[in-house]
Amino acid sequence: MQFIDLAAQQARIRGSLDARIKAVLDHGHYIMGPEVAELEARLCAFTGARHCIACASGTDALLMPLLAWGIGAGDAVFVPPFTFFATVEEPALLGATPIFVDVDPVTFNMRPDLLEAAIEAVRARDDSRFPLPGAARERQLRPAAVIPVDLFGQAADYEALLPIARRYGLSVLEDAAQSFGGSRHGKKTCALGCHAAATSFFPAKPLGCYGDGGAVFTDDDGLAALLRSIRVHGKGGDKYDNVRLGINGRLDT
Ligand SMILES: *Cc1c(COP(=O)(O)O)cnc(C)c1O
Repeated sequence: MQFIDLAAQQARIRGSLDARIKAVLDHGHYIMGPEVAELEARLCAFTGARHCIACASGTDALLMPLLAWGIGAGDAVFVPPFTFFATVEEPALLGATPIFVDVDPVTFNMRPDLLEAAIEAVRARDDSRFPLPGAARERQLRPAAVIPVDLFGQAADYEALLPIARRYGLSVLEDAAQSFGGSRHGKKTCALGCHAAATSFFPAKPLGCYGDGGAVFTDDDGLAALLRSIRVHGKGGDKYDNVRLGINGRLDT
């Protein structure tokens, strides 16, 4: 038996799949068509998050909130070392310095006590009690954001992580690429109280699509508006009015 049997899954939904794909071919809106807005509404209803911004991949779903927050050179972004590469790649791509905060040996998720130790070490530029990368020793970095990962379907310990992030003014981006559909104390992942959450619809993920896809979730109206702009090259009033730097993060219908 396969761990992930996409063919068996497809066989169960093949009829409705064929009908929906035919509908897309008929209406011709191949990118960001009406089905994308329908998906966003259903994902909001499912998770309990106020806003869902669907995008081209889980990687873009991590990148877009970091862009919205202006994360870049001089910023420290706290990440677990045991995750998929994108969790670390996106802050590094923006010029920020990823600081590895080790995971709990039982849950494999970020250890809150070590997050606090890492923040203190960055603030004090003191690696005597916590190992810092060279960039965090050579210059004063600003502790800017933390990306806890919900590994193997299990949410990280947000009851402990969020108060620490709040105390030090960090933005919190939940990496829920492996936990969509999971819950913690009755609340669904992607709606666990972080500033934003990112998930992936890569075919092998808990909620897979037929291609690449992802989504950002947030309860913050202002952030949601920024993310919708960043998703389409920083669009303003229309798509040829570009008011900020963004990406091509659109989701195919
Ligand atoms: C898969 C994954 C991503 C990236 O998602 P893509 O859709 O492949 O870009 C990010 N973080 C974690 C933890 C993942 O498992």
